[in-house]
Amino acid sequence: MISVKRKLKQIGDLMNIVADLHTHTVASTHAYSTLTEMAQAASKKGLYALAVTDHGMMMVGAPDEIYFKNLHVLPKEMMGVRVLRGIEANIIDYNGKLDANDRLLKHLEWVVASLHSITILDKPDVEKCTQTYLSVCDNPNVNVIGHSGSDYYAYDYEKVIKRCAETSTLIEINSSAIRNGRSKIENCIKIARLCKKHNARVVVDSDAHINSDVANVPEALRMLEGIKFPSELVVNSSVENLKEYFKEKKILI
Ligand SMILES: [Zn+2]
Ligand SMILES: [Zn+2]
Repeated sequence: MISVKRKLKQIGDLMNIVADLHTHTVASTHAYSTLTEMAQAASKKGLYALAVTDHGMMMVGAPDEIYFKNLHVLPKEMMGVRVLRGIEANIIDYNGKLDANDRLLKHLEWVVASLHSITILDKPDVEKCTQTYLSVCDNPNVNVIGHSGSDYYAYDYEKVIKRCAETSTLIEINSSAIRNGRSKIENCIKIARLCKKHNARVVVDSDAHINSDVANVPEALRMLEGIKFPSELVVNSSVENLKEYFKEKKILI
């Protein structure tokens, strides 16, 4: 029993996240904590940074464009946590078009781009999804491809991950998508192994829709540790890694 306990502790100690860069607030209307409550949770957990990434305008119940435009009123730090003004933009066609224009995206500090079946209605196929993600990689305003491990939106992992490495686009390992089965663990393992092979960086996120889920990412960390994924390729595994990425992307530290 003792050895099992010790082993588990070691696993937890191997890697951790210092920032949660995909989270939602009440502004998304199907999330349940305010920005202040989310920042408080991040502060309590000792995070360095938190990105608030409410759903883009095409999602049911999402805020209007003015909500994102006005995010400049947020302080840079709340309770000692660097708060990034972000969005989870919806990919709305298979050319990689997003539901937020470049002007708005440039005004924000953190952009996750995700496919959701509610906001893109055509039937996907592997070629279409591959093309979509390649275009998203080429969009300099996008930081992260969100939760891409579902079977429904299967794509040519190797092609896209190579492009991610070239363009410094982060691939997200989304813990709640693994937990609720939206992203298949087998797919996430394949994606992570290819990221390791091609030196593409990943970001581990909670996709929290409530404050108690901030930085709640055990599924993602367990998976990465299981395949001995190098922590240097996890952009939010240390403040040092994250600051390096912020510098590259000219995001204020
Ligand atoms: Zn949501
Ligand atoms: Zn999403």
